[in-house]
Amino acid sequence: MELLFNHFVTDNTVYTLETLSQLESDTPLLGVIGYPIKHSKSPLFQQAALDHSGRAEKYVKIEVPEDQFSDVIDKMKRMPFLGWNITIPHKRSMAETVDEKMESALLLGGVNTVLNQNGVLKGYNTDGMGWKHAVRESFSLDIHDLRILILGAGGAGAGLARQAAADQCERLVIANRTVETAQSLAEELKESMKSQRLQGAQALVKAIPLDPEAIRAEIDTIDLIVNTTSIGLRPEDGSMIPESIIQPHLCVYDTIYGEHETPLIRSARQAGARTASGLSMLLHQGALSYEIWTGQPAPIEVMRQALTS
Ligand code: NAP
Repeated sequence: MELLFNHFVTDNTVYTLETLSQLESDTPLLGVIGYPIKHSKSPLFQQAALDHSGRAEKYVKIEVPEDQFSDVIDKMKRMPFLGWNITIPHKRSMAETVDEKMESALLLGGVNTVLNQNGVLKGYNTDGMGWKHAVRESFSLDIHDLRILILGAGGAGAGLARQAAADQCERLVIANRTVETAQSLAEELKESMKSQRLQGAQALVKAIPLDPEAIRAEIDTIDLIVNTTSIGLRPEDGSMIPESIIQPHLCVYDTIYGEHETPLIRSARQAGARTASGLSMLLHQGALSYEIWTGQPAPIEVMRQALTS
């Protein structure tokens, strides 16, 4: 296996609308579009998987400002792209552009994976299932059995809340800075949450503001906290939940991944809670994308090693 890793060469070039034509050749392509995109780790582990499996595709990153989205997609449709991943800020625009939304995209609302079948685009969203696999792997727990507090109600927060509701989690609390967004999401999900388990006086689905006191009032009836806000992306960010609120029985999953430990993970670790970073979600959503494109099981350990080494 060591030798195989010496063979793969990730193309670290950031392609743009102007330079995409440099890729026009017979080489089958895969890629990721976003803005910014320079720091994306997807080429690293997707190329390792493709090379390990002896596949010919080259996985590239493409920087796409919002005003160039349609032009880039038109161009990629006509190039030998088997498919691509979509990251911030294009998941919603991609959902509006695909020819067919698959079940996962209909459930989660955005599209993070496209399969290009001769110019006909099928849209999927592997973030929800990727997160579910990551939680199971990190904590040996299933979403279905958990009382979950989701911090954030943007694209990722809403997607994971919808996945948790579809999995009939035991309880769902959504905390957001703009509380109205959390309220309309909770309203949307109320109907689909059918748990018959006793909740006492606690609401099955609830929206709260993203503030320590509101969170403190819920924490006794929560098992898993998931951060989907962008707080923690920058090293200077503070923790949105003080250490004193976090209890040792909690599992804390931060969807952010990067070089440094996020303040939330640090507080949770210091409080004795179990923690995991978003790297495992990145890995599992990517593995599911790979399976959509290739129809083959993803070489998950190869991908993990490429991502973490
Ligand atoms: P988004 O749609 O822009 O949503 C951002 C969320 O963060 C919103 O809930 C927003 O609240 C909140 N927020 C932003 N700045 C804030 C502040 N200063 N104080 C309090 N809340 C703030 O972004 P997204 O697509 O959901 O992505 C969010 C994060 O998810 C990203 O940082 C990314 O790292 C992570 N993510 C990870 C993976 C993975 O594979 N690990 C996959 C997808 C996303 P308002 O509604 O009040 O604006």
